[in-house]
Amino acid sequence: MGAAGEARERVNGWADRQMKDLVRNMAEFAQTKWTLEELLPTRTGEEFERLLAGLERRVSDFESGRERLSAEITSQAFLDILRQFEEINAVLRRLSAYAYLWFSEDTQSQEAISFMGRVDQFSAEVRNRLLFFSLWWKGLDEKDARRLLADSGDYAYYLESLRRFKLYTLSEPEEKVINVKDVNGSSALIKLYEVITNRFTFQLEVAGEVREMTRAELSTYVRDPSPDVRAAAYQELYRVFSDRAMVLGQIYSHRVRDWASEQVTLRGFDSPISVRNLQNDIPDPVVETLLDVCRANMAVFHRYFRFKARRLGMDRLRRYDIYAPIGAAEKTYPFSEAADLVLDSLNRFSPRLADHARRVLAENHLDSEVRHGKRDGAFCYSVLPGLTSWVLVNYVGKADDVRTLAHELGHAVHGAMAADHSVLTFHSALPMAETASVFSEMLLTDRLLREEGDPAVRRDLLVLTLDDAYATVARQAYFVLYEIEAHERAVENATTDELCELYLANLRDQFGEALDLSDDFRWEWTAIPHIYEQPFYCYAYSFGQLLVLALYRQYKEEGKAFVPRYLRILEYGGSASPEHIIREAGFDMAAPEFWQGGFDVLRGMMDELEALSPDGSGE
Ligand SMILES: [Zn+2]
Repeated sequence: MGAAGEARERVNGWADRQMKDLVRNMAEFAQTKWTLEELLPTRTGEEFERLLAGLERRVSDFESGRERLSAEITSQAFLDILRQFEEINAVLRRLSAYAYLWFSEDTQSQEAISFMGRVDQFSAEVRNRLLFFSLWWKGLDEKDARRLLADSGDYAYYLESLRRFKLYTLSEPEEKVINVKDVNGSSALIKLYEVITNRFTFQLEVAGEVREMTRAELSTYVRDPSPDVRAAAYQELYRVFSDRAMVLGQIYSHRVRDWASEQVTLRGFDSPISVRNLQNDIPDPVVETLLDVCRANMAVFHRYFRFKARRLGMDRLRRYDIYAPIGAAEKTYPFSEAADLVLDSLNRFSPRLADHARRVLAENHLDSEVRHGKRDGAFCYSVLPGLTSWVLVNYVGKADDVRTLAHELGHAVHGAMAADHSVLTFHSALPMAETASVFSEMLLTDRLLREEGDPAVRRDLLVLTLDDAYATVARQAYFVLYEIEAHERAVENATTDELCELYLANLRDQFGEALDLSDDFRWEWTAIPHIYEQPFYCYAYSFGQLLVLALYRQYKEEGKAFVPRYLRILEYGGSASPEHIIREAGFDMAAPEFWQGGFDVLRGMMDELEALSPDGSGE
C-alpha cells in the first residue's frame, strides 16, 4: 500500500489505466546511500598506486610529444595529442570526483579529507605539466589554427574557446608577471574578504534565548513565520557586516580598480563586463538586452509582493518579508512517491529523459538519506560521458525536496543526453548549465498544478516557484546592474558611503513602491561573495532561468512538436556556443521578445495564484 495508494487518492482526474501502467513501470525506490565503486574500484593499496603510476606514465608520454607541436603539425598528429590530453583529463576527473563525493557523503571523515588533499595536490601538479599545450594552441597563427580546427571534430568548440582570448592575451613574460603579482594582489584581496567574513558570528534571540550562529544558520530565519524574527535576522546580518564596512568597502574598491587596470587598460576589453561575457561566450548586446528585459518586468514581482502582503495581513511588505512563508499546507511526500512523481513527469514529456533519470536511482548513484556528517543541500556531479551522474540530496519529504529531486535529476539527464561528446566538450557552458534542471522542475510543477486537488497545496507550489524566480531572475540581474555602475564609480574613487548610496538607489529602482525598504540594506552588497570574487557572474542565473521559462512557454504552445528541439539542446552538452545551440533550436537570444516569453510564464503563474485566493486572504 503506502505511497502508491496515497498517490492514487491524491491525484484527481488521473485515468486509472494510466495509473496502472505507471505502477507497473515503477520500481519502488527507497531512500539510500549511493555507491561509488563504478568511479574508482579502490582508493588505497597497490591497485590505487598502480593507477597513479599509470597516470604519471601518460603525462610523461604527453610531455615527450612537446617537440611535435609546431605550425606544420599534421591533423592526424594533432588529434593524437588531443586524445592523450583527453585521456589524462578523464583520469583526473575520476579522481577528483571520487574525492569530492566521498567527502560529501561524510564530511567528518579524516580519511576522506586526507584523500582529497592528496588528489588536489596531484591534480594541480599534473595540470601544470599539461599547460604548455594550451599555451601553444593559443599562440598558434590563425591560418594553421583554422586548418587544424577544420579537422578536429568534436574537440572544435573546446579549442575555439581557448583561442577566444587570444586577442586579449599579453606576451608570455607579461602574463607571468600578472600571475605572480595576483597571488599577493587580487587573489589575496579575495582571500582576505573570505577570511574576514567567514569568521563572522551572529546573535539572534530564538524562543527567548540568545543564540550564537553562523551565517548559514542565521539565513534560515529570513523564512521564519514570525515577522519580528525575520526582521531581527536581517538586522543582525547587516549589523555585523556594517561593523567591518570600512575594510570591506576598501577591499572592493581595490578589487574593482585592479579588474579595470588589468582587463580594460592592459588587455583591451571594451568594458569590465565584457571579460565575463567572453568567458560565457555571450555577446555584450545580448547581456544588455537580458538585463533590460529583467528591469522592464519588475512589475510582475511587485504584484507578487503585494499579493504576499495581503496574505500576511500587512499594508505593505517590508524587504524583510520577501521570503516569508504564507500558511503552508504542510503536505509531505514519501520518498518513493517523490521519485515516481519526478520520473513520471519526465516520462510524459519524453520517455528517453525518464529512462536516464531512472538509471540514477537503479544504479544506486543517488544519495538521498539524511545522515550526520553528510554534506548539506543538493548537487549533481556528471563526471564523464557515458557514466551515470551521481546525485546528492537530503530528502525529508517537503514539497521543496521533491522539486530539488527533480532539479538534480534534471542535471543528470543533461549529462546522459550529452554522452556522445568528448570529455572536453561534455559539460555545458555556464549559461546553459541549468537548462535541464530547471526544465524538469517546471515539468514537475506543471504536473502537480494540473493534478493537485487541494488549492492550498497548489498555492504553495506557485509561491515556491515565484520565490525562486524572484531570487534567481530579478535579484541576480539587479546585482549585475549594480556592478556595472559600481565598477564605473569605484574607478573614479567613490567612497564606501557613495557605493552604499548607489546600492540603495539600485534597490529603490528594483522595488519601486511595492515594498518598504529600510536603510540597513545599504550594506547588502558587502555581503555578496560573488560581487567580490566573480564580478558580473550573477546574470548567468537570470539567463538560465529565463531561458527555461521561455522554452517552457514554447512547449505549452507547440506541444509534442517542441520535444525534439528541446532534446537537441541537451544533446549539444558543451560542444557549441550558447548562441549556436539556441539558434538551432529556433530561438533568437538577441531578441527582447525571447526573454519576454519567460516573464509571460511568470505572469501566468501570478494570475493563477491570485485566482486561487480571490480576496487575497484565502480561506
Ligand atoms: Zn542546478
